[in-house]
Parts: sequence; C-alpha cells; structure tokens
Amino acid sequence: MPILSTTGNTETVHSQAGTMIELHSVSKTYLHSHHALLDVSLQVNKGEFLFITGASGSGKSTLLKMLYGAELPTQGEVIVDNINVATLENYGLSLLRRRIGIVFQDYKLIPQRTVAENITFVLQAQGYTRKEIQRRLEPTLKLVGLLSKADRFPDQLSGGEQQRVSIARAIVGTPPLLLADEPTGNLDPDNSWQVIEIFQKLNSFGATVIITTHDEQLVRRCHHPVVQVKDGKLYRK
Ligand code: ADP
Ligand code: MG
Repeated sequence: MPILSTTGNTETVHSQAGTMIELHSVSKTYLHSHHALLDVSLQVNKGEFLFITGASGSGKSTLLKMLYGAELPTQGEVIVDNINVATLENYGLSLLRRRIGIVFQDYKLIPQRTVAENITFVLQAQGYTRKEIQRRLEPTLKLVGLLSKADRFPDQLSGGEQQRVSIARAIVGTPPLLLADEPTGNLDPDNSWQVIEIFQKLNSFGATVIITTHDEQLVRRCHHPVVQVKDGKLYRK
C-alpha cells in the first residue's frame, strides 16, 4: 500500500523504499497575482498512485509544473528524486526531465508525424540507437493498444487514441515518475477509464503516478489516495 502524507498527516507503510517527491512549505505567487499555492507540504513515495483534484484555477497545474521545473516555488522547497529542483541548471533539469513522463490534457502531438514518430522522436533526440528505439516501440504501442495504428497520423485518430499516443510518448523512455495534468479532460467516460487503466498498469510495474483531474466520479471509481487543492492549500481527502 503506497503512502501519502500531507500537512498534519503522516503514514508509514509503503511498497517500495524511498521518497519520490517532497514539497516543504511551498508557496507560489505569479507576478501581479495572488497566491497560486500557499504553504503546501506533500510527500509522495515511490510506487504511489495519487490523484490531485480541485476546481479550475485552484493550482493543480502549478503544482505539477514545479515538479518538472517549469515553475520555481516563490518559497519552500520542491524535492524530486532527492534533488532540489531549484538548484538545477539547464543540463541537470534536462536529465531530471528524462526521468519524468508528462501527459497533458491536449495531447501535444506533432500533426505531421506518424504515431510511431511522435512516440520515438524524443528518444532519437536523446541519442538512442535505432535498434534500441525499435526494441522499445512495439511493447509501448502494445501497452496503449495502438500496435495496428503506428503509421497513422494524429488527425486519423480519435481523441482517446491521441491521448494514448501521448502516454506512449511519455513512457517509452521508462521514466520512474509519471505526471498527468487533466489527461482525461477532453475524453468521454469510456476513454477516460481506458487512460486511467493504462496508468494503473504502469503503476503496477512500479512507476509513481500523479494525476490531476476535476472529475470526481473518476476519482471515486478508483481507490487511490486523493489530495484536493483549494484556495492554494492542499487538503487530504
Ligand atoms: P489549475 O491547473 O488548477 O486550473 P493553475 O495552476 O493553472 O490552476 O492556476 C492557479 C492560479 O495561478 C490561477 O489563479 C491562475 O490564474 C494563476 N496562474 C497560473 N499560471 C499563471 C501565470 N503564468 N501567470 C500568472 N498567473 C498564473
Ligand atoms: Mg490546470
């Protein structure tokens, strides 16, 4: 059973040793804005599956962005895989990001590239050999149920399929941490559930998974820990 502790709550039993994420009294204020997050503390252990819920504008994306270094905290510390993200320069940050798979609500696929190319171009950029890329591509396509659609272009796919391509792209480098920012936001319930089942499978293989959503029904259907962001504060549900 993975564990979660937020401010005022600490539990201890977990399936894999080690902490994946620690937020220590993190606040984030954007320029000319009030607090997006206020004094948030969170610990996520390796192997955990965590939902972050909250209304639009509550700070969910901001929280995830700080985990992959797209935003820095105004106060407090964000530790990912034992690294204080704020201390990283460009190279260190790019190394950290190789260990994080990120999925967005709007897929962000390249329209002129096939499914297979969309999935593998990051590996190419990272200097993987063609053989290694081929070795990884097929099982990844299989896992997201798109083996027969490798040569399609994004506009020849349904929304659910496009989201599964973006998940394949996020996981083909086998990162230990998966972050998904409202990955089911544009999908109907059936496709949403397929996406969640893929994340659950990846979690069963050992990945730490953090998903933001405002879909309360989806969260209730799963039995994973949930935290809620409200007025910049984090609450355990
Ligand atoms: P959510 O993902 O829960 O919808 P966000 O994290 O995107 O919430 O936003 C939290 C708050 O921070 C909102 O009030 C939003 O307007 C503000 N915000 C987000 N990004 C920026 C930005 N780049 N500049 C200024 N304010 C921002
Ligand atoms: Mg958001």
